[in-house]
Amino acid sequence: MYDRNHLAHRLRRASSRADDRPFLIHDPDGRVTGYGAFFHNTERMASALERIGVQPGDRVAVQAPKTQEMLELYVACVLAGAVFLPLNTGYTPAEIRYFLSDAMPVLFVCDSGKLEALTSVARECGVAHIRTIAADGSGTLREAREAEVAGYDPVPRGPDDLAAILYTSGTTGRSKGAMLTHRALASNSETLREVWRFTAEDVLIHALPIFHTHGLFVATNIALMAGASCIFLPGFDAQAILRAMPEATALMGVPTFYTRLLQQEGLAEAARNMRLFVSGSAPLLAETHARWRAVTGHAILERYGMTETNMNTSNPYDGDRRAGTVGFPLPGVELAIRDPETRADLPQGEIGVIEVRGPNVFAGYWQMPEKTAEELREDGFFITGDLGKVDADGYVHIVGRAKDLIISGGFNVYPKEVETLIDDLPGVLESAVIGVPHPDFGEAVVAVVVPQSGADITEDAVLAGVAGALARFKQPKRVIVRHELPRNTMGKVQKAALRQDHAGLFA
Ligand code: AMP
Repeated sequence: MYDRNHLAHRLRRASSRADDRPFLIHDPDGRVTGYGAFFHNTERMASALERIGVQPGDRVAVQAPKTQEMLELYVACVLAGAVFLPLNTGYTPAEIRYFLSDAMPVLFVCDSGKLEALTSVARECGVAHIRTIAADGSGTLREAREAEVAGYDPVPRGPDDLAAILYTSGTTGRSKGAMLTHRALASNSETLREVWRFTAEDVLIHALPIFHTHGLFVATNIALMAGASCIFLPGFDAQAILRAMPEATALMGVPTFYTRLLQQEGLAEAARNMRLFVSGSAPLLAETHARWRAVTGHAILERYGMTETNMNTSNPYDGDRRAGTVGFPLPGVELAIRDPETRADLPQGEIGVIEVRGPNVFAGYWQMPEKTAEELREDGFFITGDLGKVDADGYVHIVGRAKDLIISGGFNVYPKEVETLIDDLPGVLESAVIGVPHPDFGEAVVAVVVPQSGADITEDAVLAGVAGALARFKQPKRVIVRHELPRNTMGKVQKAALRQDHAGLFA
């Protein structure tokens, strides 16, 4: 029955004859949910959705704690032909209002603790139904599931049908809803399962949030498609991850996972039997890569992707995993480096805008035809907005976001080039280089630098440290020392916030 639903079929295929195998091993209590039990619940959840009044194509929005019930809701939406729309748990009611009014879901599932604040928001946005999930999984959504029996017949869905809408983090302008089809999700996870060699023997430490592409589609879909198990953590907890490692084979994380884990005692011992460490969603410092390798003997495998495209490139499973690169385009994904103005292909080695094409790419932005036409071109290429280059060996390097490019006195400055030099200076933990309005230069290069703990860093030392290695126009005009960089939940440095904080520096 599942085989008439493109994605559901692929999520269930590996486990259909392995109902007694563990899917979720809950942390910290060790409770196990087998594959049979999970899909049994999911089918009941899909029946509950139908009873509530969710029809194929309807959006189901959810802002809820990371729980088994939220995963059941995701797969139930796939079975019922609905469109799953997860929202960052950090969004305020005012932000939620925008998403609900834009996406017009039929059902909104929220955290039980926020029901009061969000009920009126949902009503004002015309949302017909509201249900809850609490941190322990209880709530009115689970009650609705409990009232149903298993044995749901999935709604037929083809590769082009929508499975999910994920809103981009929207660092500039309004957040956009990326429409993801059954094909985009299924093909990408199947490819990653192959290239990262996931099998039913794997035990993945799942510590990422499930409102974002990384934890929801990369981690969860790969595990389901492989019939693997997940040690399911409600969030990042370095101690819990270390405890889980001896029982696990793989970890997927953002770079901050790795820098924090490196501060723990006993990492080398804990990591001994692990097979794979994957990093993505933000750049992994070459230094973190090197330290991880020195401590654990493992080379972190860095990959590159985004909400709109799923994953685009990956370092090789076999072969050289190169620090500071995101590896090669995945099988089936075409990647081009193009001139931002003319879209002409640039010669190998030159920096340009990264464009990608393949079955992994989204179907457009929800109700934004103009934005879609600007970025997802008729020839099928999506203009990612990331700047990058391909080196002589074919490895892709990300240089930053196009909108973070600094133009100082008419010259282009790529922040990454300056950051890499600063990060290598003694006593520097990390840095972010931004453009700040300047009366003469238009923009001036400013470096925000975080010292290693206990180190003392001065503006003069940083300026002197990079002076010999950088053309004058690339050298920072000012260096600001801060104790940390502002980051979002996926570990991305919020350069827009930094630009705002320091906008008046040369006024
Ligand atoms: P999101 O849509 O939230 O997943 O953000 C996608 C963006 O994160 C990409 O367009 C890149 O700018 C950035 N990103 C993802 N993975 C990497 C990586 N491995 N290295 C550098 N930037 C990355």
